[in-house]
Amino acid sequence: MRKKIVAGNWKMNTNLPQGHELFHEINEYCNTIDLRELSVIIAPPFTHLISLCETDNRCIQLAAQNCSDKTHGAFTGEVSTNMITSSGANYVIIGHSERRKYFGETNEILKNKINLAIESGLQTIYCCGESIDERQQGIHKDIISQQIEKVLYEFDNKQIGKIIVAYEPIWAIGTGETATAEQAQEMHACIRSLVNQKFGEELANSMTIIYGGSCSAKNASELFEMKDVDGGLIGGASLKAQDFIDIINALIKS
Ligand code: PEP
Repeated sequence: MRKKIVAGNWKMNTNLPQGHELFHEINEYCNTIDLRELSVIIAPPFTHLISLCETDNRCIQLAAQNCSDKTHGAFTGEVSTNMITSSGANYVIIGHSERRKYFGETNEILKNKINLAIESGLQTIYCCGESIDERQQGIHKDIISQQIEKVLYEFDNKQIGKIIVAYEPIWAIGTGETATAEQAQEMHACIRSLVNQKFGEELANSMTIIYGGSCSAKNASELFEMKDVDGGLIGGASLKAQDFIDIINALIKS
């Protein structure tokens, strides 16, 4: 059985006290549920990572939202994978469409970031997804194939085992327009078959593939019922404790 995951991406939201309040509320709830087959992950801003890692009775895993593609040195403002590991976080999100779009992150850069993340002992949540134009042109599967082949095919079987894929159609991120359960299933199955082609059935079947894009307490159950949807990467709805908890519960029941 593959691990189910609900991950919250807070993006550039919450100051430190607000982040603590939100994290504590979710952590308190998560301490009342069985987390053996499910991981709950939160990716707060970098400034919150260390203190949230030190939370008493923490059962939520922590992720960075980004990392540098360099190990160290004169790169003002950058944060290395080694720094993230030493803060106590276990995961890093790499390849989010906002970083590809606003910060010019290419497949080459993403490959370097994933390589460093794995070397530092971090698990990577690798995001991929097509734009609305690409979907309307009917080339969404080609786009996903490129994003998987040009980045993930560079790794070996052992490294690929440290990667979680998040399918995030760009047209669904922050728009309130979610992919239908059938659209999500089709794309997740496509990603799994690309992993199968290169790395074999065992790895493909054990890879966690999560959906992101306006996933909410209302639509989560339908999405999570799909056989290749192993959870969600949640943006907006992760900023409200009850909404995020409802999404966790939807995954538990799926
Ligand atoms: C995201 O940015 O990863 C995301 C899924 O955002 P939202 O849930 O707000 O669409």
